[in-house]
Amino acid sequence: MQESEKIWMNGELVDWADARVHVGAHGLHYGTGVFEGIRCYATDRGPAVFRLAEHLQRLETSAKLLYMELPYSVEELRAACHEAIAVNELSECYIRPIAFFGYGELGVHTGTNPIDVAIMCWPWGAYLGENSQSQGITAMISSWRRVGPNTIPHAAKATGVYLNSMLATHEAQRCGFDEAILLTEEGAIADGPGETIFVVKDGTIYTPDLNASILPGITRDTVIQIAQDRGHAVVEKSLIRTDLYTADEVFFTGTAAEVTPVRAVDNHEIGVGPVTLELQAAYADTVRGRSERWSHWLDFATAARAGA
Ligand code: PMP
Repeated sequence: MQESEKIWMNGELVDWADARVHVGAHGLHYGTGVFEGIRCYATDRGPAVFRLAEHLQRLETSAKLLYMELPYSVEELRAACHEAIAVNELSECYIRPIAFFGYGELGVHTGTNPIDVAIMCWPWGAYLGENSQSQGITAMISSWRRVGPNTIPHAAKATGVYLNSMLATHEAQRCGFDEAILLTEEGAIADGPGETIFVVKDGTIYTPDLNASILPGITRDTVIQIAQDRGHAVVEKSLIRTDLYTADEVFFTGTAAEVTPVRAVDNHEIGVGPVTLELQAAYADTVRGRSERWSHWLDFATAARAGA
């Protein structure tokens, strides 16, 4: 990763190299953390964080689902994100807030362990590779199933859940594919290891509903709203793997992945289609402040600093 200068950690800005935790930290042993992935984009009016409030609200919800009480309010975390972007003088970056049970006791119960909170910001380009957005990527249905709703609450973006994502990613790449697609325990399409999945068929856009063991994706919500606004029909429903094989188009969405075409699933060629490219361009216009229609989703870093 491309290091930046400072990391916001428990209320202080510390040097990148000094943002350390003890090896006895609870979160390291049991995956008892929650985090967010947020992007800040360069716009004509300066750096703008995309849907920051919604991301921090989701962080708070994730924490609640782990019986973790965040020591900072959403408003305080928002100010901290702005501070971290400003001090690192980044016009465009990925922002990673994380909260986890720290060093104290090492029983599985979180006990009286402190809750550590950190915010890292660093430059991060296309998540799925240089040409992924224009050429599309290949994916395989993973042999690993998504963590079910009665195993770990899927609305929580919790660190421990990503062991499931890591195994699926590892398997897909070992098998020569770019990315994995996970099914639910019942066999419906869930999502990618770090992306929501969409299918286009006969002019309608489909995506699994929120009961399908998926994270309530903020890009998912963004793309649904943009697509509907542009006159596309969007249906949230249960999908099966055949729906992918016979799709006109398949694409992934996510803060890191943005809108990435999936050009083949399990070696069934799908290609890169016009609806995907239209939404990819509309998404880019939205996050980069070129669309007045959605400007309320941008949280301008410079404006927040001036008002701080
Ligand atoms: N699903 C999973 C499992 C993820 O990790 C992510 C990335 N946060 C997403 C979907 C996409 O969510 P968002 O659009 O909010 O980034």
